[in-house]
Amino acid sequence: MKKKMPKTEEEWKTCLAPEAFSILRKKGTEIPFTGKYVNNKKKGVYVCAGCGNRLFSSDTKYESGTGWPSFWAPASKNGIEMKPDNSLLMHRTEILCMKCKGHLGHVFDDGPKPTGKRFCINSAALHFKEKKKSVG
Ligand code: FE
Repeated sequence: MKKKMPKTEEEWKTCLAPEAFSILRKKGTEIPFTGKYVNNKKKGVYVCAGCGNRLFSSDTKYESGTGWPSFWAPASKNGIEMKPDNSLLMHRTEILCMKCKGHLGHVFDDGPKPTGKRFCINSAALHFKEKKKSVG
């Protein structure tokens, strides 16, 4: 059997948890305050739940009060992609994983300094890797 990237939607369905599939591949939104990383204050990195791409660092995570994990900057400019989203009669900017094109959430202009941005991300689209206290 050949492995291919990008995966088909059928392949994503078999390899992702149902909640991750509905967000990453169907552009769903999890119910606020229900995601597993809303109140996560541990140090580490957040990678894409679909492909493992490094997306956000705990260093830029902050308490936005919205009920979704919020960050004021991405880990790197190459991790994410931004796309205009005019669905639901709103003008928003969608955030996608640059590598697997999975839907992550949206970015808004009401974030804290220094960027003023709020990257509002669904927990189910993320996988948290806690920073190890010592090497080895
Ligand atoms: Fe990805």
